[in-house]
Amino acid sequence: MTQLAYILAASHSGSTLLTMFLNSHPEVATIGELSPGHIEDLSWYLCSCGSSIRECHFWRWVASAMRTRGINFHLEEFGTGFWMPDSRIAAGLLGTLHRGPALELLRDIGLRLFSPWPSRIAEIIRTNEILVEVILEYYHARLFVDKGNRALRLKYLLHIPSFDLKVIRLIRDGRGVALTYMDPAGFADAKDPALRGGGSGGQRENKRLSMAQAAHQWRRCNEEAENILRGLDASQWIEVRYEELCKDTENTLGRLFEFLGIDPDKRAREFRTVEHHVVGNGMRLDPTSQISLDERWRSVLTEEELCVFDREAGKMNRRYGYSDNGI
Ligand SMILES: [Zn+2]
Repeated sequence: MTQLAYILAASHSGSTLLTMFLNSHPEVATIGELSPGHIEDLSWYLCSCGSSIRECHFWRWVASAMRTRGINFHLEEFGTGFWMPDSRIAAGLLGTLHRGPALELLRDIGLRLFSPWPSRIAEIIRTNEILVEVILEYYHARLFVDKGNRALRLKYLLHIPSFDLKVIRLIRDGRGVALTYMDPAGFADAKDPALRGGGSGGQRENKRLSMAQAAHQWRRCNEEAENILRGLDASQWIEVRYEELCKDTENTLGRLFEFLGIDPDKRAREFRTVEHHVVGNGMRLDPTSQISLDERWRSVLTEEELCVFDREAGKMNRRYGYSDNGI
């Protein structure tokens, strides 16, 4: 069985930072998201090593190893996502959030009866299995880390018999996350403006949400995570806060490595000195290993915005231990 850890987190909760921390251990391999979605323009998209993803020696090696194993692998679209855009019914059924066991059963029945999903999912599972195997081989590692913000992906990964899966649930103060949804380029991307938008320097104006939308998205994402975790054995998952990861990095990582069955002492202390080929959030392109807790929401969000957040998601935020003054 292949050991896999899945980081389940609302986007912009610090999961790229956490994957890079975990990847600083020689027994761990990761590329951030195993299913990063469609990469629109490969010509400017940067890998975390600084090369364009097309030129990066790691990605060239992976693509060639995948082809050797009979998988027609493309960097634009890895083929690892549990979706099916070419079937309207399947796309509709796969587009909604994870909603608990009863509705998940209905989703599964619908997919089986009314769409070509059963044959497609076998292909997607195989691509996931082989890509994980290839990347573990490159790094000579034994634990693969995947991350994502959709519980539905986790649901399908849990059904792959060759994966021995554990879940790290990462939570960050919803007010900090909501601010990143209101302005992703300004608050959740590379420090260097020229490297934002995946390396294009884009300001991502079309991705901005209002505070009401942002708070709603954060709350729904966490409700979805709660739904799926309810069905798991307590020994299979662990919860961690972004804030404790930044403030008490050593102890938090020690706890996580122990949960994953890995000796924490072998980890490289300067995580940027380790070879990383990570796709996803722009912080992967920052040059420093220095960790600073990002709590810009405290000075940036207005009283009115905080009230809007509180109406939509304040109850959940407090339940996670975030008071008016933070954690
Ligand atoms: Zn690279």
